[in-house]
Amino acid sequence: MSDVQDVVEELATKHLRWWRRSSDDEITGPCPFHDEASTGAFHINTQTGMFICFSCQERGGLFSLMKKLRTPRVVIDAVMRRVEGELDGAWRKKKKKGEREPFLLHEALLGVFDRCPTSLLEDGFNMDLLRAYDIGFDTLHGRITYPIRDHHGRLVGISGRTLDGSLPKYKIYMAKQLCEFNDKAYGGYYFIRGQFLWNMHNVIADLRAGDVKRLNIVEGFKACLWMLQNGYRHTVASLGVFLTRHHLALLDRYNVAVNIFLDNTEDARAATAKMGKQLSPGHDVYVSRYPRALEDGCQPDDLPKKALQLVVENALNYGRWRSEWMTTQI
Ligand SMILES: [Zn+2]
Repeated sequence: MSDVQDVVEELATKHLRWWRRSSDDEITGPCPFHDEASTGAFHINTQTGMFICFSCQERGGLFSLMKKLRTPRVVIDAVMRRVEGELDGAWRKKKKKGEREPFLLHEALLGVFDRCPTSLLEDGFNMDLLRAYDIGFDTLHGRITYPIRDHHGRLVGISGRTLDGSLPKYKIYMAKQLCEFNDKAYGGYYFIRGQFLWNMHNVIADLRAGDVKRLNIVEGFKACLWMLQNGYRHTVASLGVFLTRHHLALLDRYNVAVNIFLDNTEDARAATAKMGKQLSPGHDVYVSRYPRALEDGCQPDDLPKKALQLVVENALNYGRWRSEWMTTQI
């Protein structure tokens, strides 16, 4: 048995009420993150350690799974050291199998959401910017809609964000929702998570030309829009707190310095440490650090322009940031 499989089964035995093997490399059981008796919406891959709950949408890799299950830090570190090489191998093997092309959506679909997301205006976002990015509103589900484009600019997905704080906060519209808007045109629609860097299509020409001084990486749509509005047009959003091999493949083509600017949370700092490590071989890596006085949980779009500039311009070198961060981890 492989180490990853070993670890995954140990975690499942400890934290799931029951589990079964649903395929050669997957186990299934009731989700430990929401109240679920028997349906088994929770899946973990025993080669990559990636997990997902199709009900509450919790997802991530082995590291975040252990964190979410409140595994002690020393145990997580020991486990990650043990499985690191094997996980890398699993990803490389998967890549060889060939990749699916993204499923392209018709631009006309955006017409359905052609309504002003007023709450974003109230948050200080500029109408022209929202228009330029086709940010809209889905009256049927009460969600702000963010079109997702691949690095060629092709429309590959729509993400809807709730206004009332209900979960999941962000939701990628799948075939079922899209068909509600456009008959059955999107019956076979699929979205490959972790394949896209939001706003990459607007940055890529400058990257190719070597005109990007520093590429900012933020977590979400709002943070990215806020950076753009404040003059940082070389900004992309990872749409999550991890970089996938797709992201890395996209970024590693360019010899560009990157600045990691995630939200102000402990989870995001742990993710920053990991991202920095992933990016360091190919890039000069910087990290934007929030001033101590700022509340935990705030994100780039909570910062007024001046504060935003300070945080971006005073980004720390990753190595220095990391050693400072490590001292808070003991
Ligand atoms: Zn769940």
